[in-house]
Amino acid sequence: MGEILVLAELRQGEVREITFEALGAGRNVAAKAGLKLSTLLVGYNLERAEDGLADYCDNILIVEDERLGQYNSETYQAVVSQVFRERRPALLLMGHTSMGMDLAPRLAVELGIPLVTDCLEIELVDGRLYAVRQMYGGKLNCRVRAREAEGYIATVRQGIFKPVKIESRGLVTRIGIPVLPRELRRRVKGVTAPVKSEISIESADIIVAVGRGIGEKSNIALAEELANLLGGVIACSRPIVDKGWLPSDRQVGSSGKTVKPKLYISLGISGAFQHVMGMMNSQLIIAVNKDRNAPIFNVAHYGVVDDLFKVAPALIKKIRELKGLR
Ligand SMILES: Cc1cc2nc3c(=O)[nH]c(=O)nc-3n(C[C@H](O)[C@H](O)[C@H](O)COP(=O)(O)OP(=O)(O)OC[C@H]3O[C@@H](n4cnc5c(N)ncnc54)[C@H](O)[C@@H]3O)c2cc1C
Repeated sequence: MGEILVLAELRQGEVREITFEALGAGRNVAAKAGLKLSTLLVGYNLERAEDGLADYCDNILIVEDERLGQYNSETYQAVVSQVFRERRPALLLMGHTSMGMDLAPRLAVELGIPLVTDCLEIELVDGRLYAVRQMYGGKLNCRVRAREAEGYIATVRQGIFKPVKIESRGLVTRIGIPVLPRELRRRVKGVTAPVKSEISIESADIIVAVGRGIGEKSNIALAEELANLLGGVIACSRPIVDKGWLPSDRQVGSSGKTVKPKLYISLGISGAFQHVMGMMNSQLIIAVNKDRNAPIFNVAHYGVVDDLFKVAPALIKKIRELKGLR
């Protein structure tokens, strides 16, 4: 039986969420095409990672070596291409992350197979890869068909696919270390973590997002109060970051974060497609905007056409009442 192979991505020994999402994408394709789903785990000291992945795939293939402890395109390319040649998966999937963007094109060129990047949907029809990806900076969704080939590579966008757990645990197979390049032209000299606030909007269940309609920096306190009362966090559209009113890790959209909270309240955001791309998968979207034609209402489940400075205080008052607060 053929397989779909997902390349796991690690950060400081932890499996990144995108790996589980890529496995979710792979699971749907594998189920329809009657294929197995395998994860390729490359690195060093992999016990924890291995354990975390076992509930999401049929097989875990492990290539473990000290020299692979740190991502390096040259060593990883050598490992993944050799595993690909031996196993000939129908499809190799990885995240559309800086690692995926670096590695996938190199592999596609070396293996001479088609690559489709940043996919929002993936399908194998009679063994041929079809995918949905965006064009013109996200203005169009376009369904593409890869040329016929023996195997494909695709990268998947973060925050789009849902992880899918399975009943049984994946079988672990250790693979001998493939030949690694003797001399590396690139070496990781150190890792600098970005300055991060303590809050991650990507993992928040409730988000109150503000846009240019908030008017002044000091008015953000109103949205913050609403977020706090709901147990949520504050996020924003790009102009708010450009003005320096909130840090860049609060920006939602194509050049910010992709979020999928249970509740997304948008205050004074027009709904430009670059913003919508980052929040359209939220479970419940409530938009407040005084312009009834604002595009945010196309994705909102509930819309309030009114001034946010009337709506937000009314909401705050009501929640306070319900919570028995003064
Ligand atoms: C390459 C590129 C990448 C980009 N990436 C991103 C991104 O990641 N994220 C992002 O957000 N944007 C991004 N943008 C910018 C995007 O195109 C929009 O300009 C931006 O999203 C608009 O932000 P906004 O909705 O806050 O502001 P505006 O478009 O100015 O909308 C403000 C809205 O507030 C409403 N409003 C005003 N006052 C009130 C009030 N008192 N009560 C209620 N409603 C009110 C108005 O009716 C209006 O609809 C990007 C643009 C480019 C070119």
